[in-house]
Amino acid sequence: MKFLRVLFLTATVLGSALTAVADHHGKKPIKALIITGGCCHNYHFQTSAMTEGISKTTDVNWTILHEGGTSKDHQSEFYEDPNWAKPYDIVVHNECFAHNVDESYIKKIADGHKNAGVPGLVIHCAMHTYRDIEANDWRKFLGVTSKRHDHQSNYAVKLEKPNHPALKGTPKDWVTPKDELYIIEKLWPSATALATSVSEKDGKAHPVIWVNDFEGTRVFGTTYGHSDDTFRDPVFINLLTQGFIWAAGK
Ligand SMILES: [Zn+2]
Repeated sequence: MKFLRVLFLTATVLGSALTAVADHHGKKPIKALIITGGCCHNYHFQTSAMTEGISKTTDVNWTILHEGGTSKDHQSEFYEDPNWAKPYDIVVHNECFAHNVDESYIKKIADGHKNAGVPGLVIHCAMHTYRDIEANDWRKFLGVTSKRHDHQSNYAVKLEKPNHPALKGTPKDWVTPKDELYIIEKLWPSATALATSVSEKDGKAHPVIWVNDFEGTRVFGTTYGHSDDTFRDPVFINLLTQGFIWAAGK
């Protein structure tokens, strides 16, 4: 397979007031890596909406790895280093490469998190990334198994664990912008559903927000995040922010 050129864009998005607060308390910014790209979504818009939104309340030093174009089976050279995750406090996965079935490659990604104990924030198509492979390394990291989704609709979100810190500020009557409901075949025993939505097709409830204990490493996930409208919704951006803060442990 031809490797596409690795593109790094490091962006530090800091408000001056936040910098002052952080300096005052002597806290360092959270070092976050976003891995994004692939099929079916507007990753340029999603990345800027997410980084700008989270940086409004949290001091973050962002590194963005956006590659793979619109392909479904891209392989990144970035994971060749077994310590790829080590420089970061958290890694955000918002990529979509469903047809990559290279088992040793996928294991390197999960092992990068496990070995360095680096938490994850996993969004939407990250759950269908590496979907075609039998091996479960990636799904154990995610905390869920999903291989398909229902149609786009405005889905009501029922909070199952309203007191969890990652749900701080999420209203109990939140209805999503037009988005896809991912069908969760399996919630892994290490994972806890924080919120569910009901399929309009068969009436079954599916986890849409959850946390996972990946062998001692925190993972926060949501299957929402298909549309630009979702990334324009302040409720969704706050959800990503609270999940980010919770997973990074700060
Ligand atoms: Zn989608």
